[in-house]
Amino acid sequence: MISTAEIKKLQKLSLQELSALALEQKLANRGQQVSLCSIINAKSGKCSEDCRFCTQSAHYNTDSPIYPLKSRQEVLAAASEAKQIGATRFSLVTSGRGMNREQVEPIAELVAAIREQVGIKVCASLGILGLNELTILKNAGVSRYHHNLETSKEFFPKVVSSHTFEDRVDTIKACQEADLEVCAGGIFGLGESEADRISMALSLRELKVDSVPINILIPLPGTPFADLPAIPVADVLRSIALYRLIHPKVPLRLAGGRESILNDLLGTAFMSGIDGMMIGGYLTQRGRSPEEDSRFVAEIQQIWTS
Ligand code: SF4
Repeated sequence: MISTAEIKKLQKLSLQELSALALEQKLANRGQQVSLCSIINAKSGKCSEDCRFCTQSAHYNTDSPIYPLKSRQEVLAAASEAKQIGATRFSLVTSGRGMNREQVEPIAELVAAIREQVGIKVCASLGILGLNELTILKNAGVSRYHHNLETSKEFFPKVVSSHTFEDRVDTIKACQEADLEVCAGGIFGLGESEADRISMALSLRELKVDSVPINILIPLPGTPFADLPAIPVADVLRSIALYRLIHPKVPLRLAGGRESILNDLLGTAFMSGIDGMMIGGYLTQRGRSPEEDSRFVAEIQQIWTS
């Protein structure tokens, strides 16, 4: 495990040097694998929380869709499609601060139906939950719970004021108590510093999470972060490389923002330690086509083996 003094030394390296070290770690610890996951925005909008990057918050005037929990038929169709396009995990995501037992039960039924009828690993991302609700999900067949820290402990109050960083940490700890794996990462480009991104990486390491998703902010109209300048790609790549060096054995996956921010440079992220990505679109944005993603994965694996 690298120390904070070693991280400080790494921060002085050039992007090329950092990326080379990160790729070496990725190949040594994770081989040529690329993990692909897919999500469904199963319930959208009208959220009580004020996360400043999110179009689903009821605090902001956005054109994000608003709808209640999707039907069993819609969810099963989306899970089948995810499996068909090569995802090994399918996550049910809902807007809102969290859920009580009554709200979690219909989700647990959907999870059991997906496990039985589609046969794909199921994840869930339902906000702040307690041990009882998480245990219901575990018993229904959820393998991993997704709950981002969003940003560093220090920067968090500049991003969200309706709940705290500690609330999020408590949910992650409750997941582990319920014997659920945890997928937790955050968003780059919220106006945070490299030190903030490293602080979040260290919090995730301390929490021993099983998977780290990295989103890059897409500043969306109507949100308070709509006018934030885009984070430079070089900064994203440096932080990705540092994340790989801090988390040598954990799947590091690119999620929202990979197309709009990285664009033609997506491959460079996979040469800097990334080894997974979300396919088939995000919460409120469509992604690249599954065919393009499959071609990309085959090409990147060829590069890794050459
Ligand atoms: S990120 Fe989640 S909790 Fe925050 S406003 Fe959006 S839907 Fe609500």
